[in-house]
Amino acid sequence: MATVALSSIAKSFGSTKVLGGVDLDIADGEFLTLVGPSGCGKSTLIRIIAGLEHQDGGGVAIGGSRVDHLRPHERRVAMVFQSYALYPHMSVRANIALPLTMSRLSLRQRLPLLRLLSRRRREVMRGIEADVGAVAMQLQLDHLLDRKPAQLSGGQRQRVALGRAMVRQPAVFLMDEPLSNLDAKLRVHMRTELAELHKRLGATFIYVTHDQVEAMTMSDRVAMMDSGSILQLGTPSRLYEKPASLKVAQFIGSPA
Ligand code: ADP
Ligand code: MG
Repeated sequence: MATVALSSIAKSFGSTKVLGGVDLDIADGEFLTLVGPSGCGKSTLIRIIAGLEHQDGGGVAIGGSRVDHLRPHERRVAMVFQSYALYPHMSVRANIALPLTMSRLSLRQRLPLLRLLSRRRREVMRGIEADVGAVAMQLQLDHLLDRKPAQLSGGQRQRVALGRAMVRQPAVFLMDEPLSNLDAKLRVHMRTELAELHKRLGATFIYVTHDQVEAMTMSDRVAMMDSGSILQLGTPSRLYEKPASLKVAQFIGSPA
């Protein structure tokens, strides 16, 4: 089970209040999108769920347990960034494998001189290789595993970043504007890919975008944010047909 429950999440940077007590319950397996204008606090909220930022007040629960004391890699979440955050000197294979090499190999086993000697290390590496292969197959990256990020298209790089998140088999995927660096045509194509991936994995997706069309086409529910709070939460058609305020109507582009 990977529900995500946010209760009264508050956050300020210095004297600037960025989140004013956000409550939000996300269902297991849901595709929930946080949408809203630039600067409204979307990234801060998703970073708090990931454990990359800490809230001043309130709590985060994942799968029914509070995770506020847990570090990012202990939270069963994986984050996909807009900038891909790939290592340019490493192959696609090594980029996707990174979370596994970090968690399954000891520091000692990562040392170049000791590598060749250790049978245990070879076993672990075979397991990692199999997991990376399975993910690469799902994302149609299997023929690109030996390339470096610079030798890939934007869409392929984005899929590598997704692969790096998938390889840990997280219960919750957190995506912060993952498509915003792609050109318009590819962005539309990747929307479909992401929606299919969500169905296939059955994981909970929390997706951040400032693009209302993206929010309306992919999501089970949309949370429309403004100035650090949620103005309205509902299905895309609900927000479109019954916007709770003029602000929501204007942002979503509904006729009301
Ligand atoms: P969004 O993702 O919706 O564009 P953010 O969560 O990135 O919004 O930012 C919300 C507000 O918090 C902005 O005014 C931004 O300048 C501010 N902010 C975000 N991160 C920091 C930080 N580390 N230090 C200071 N201010 C920040
Ligand atoms: Mg942002």
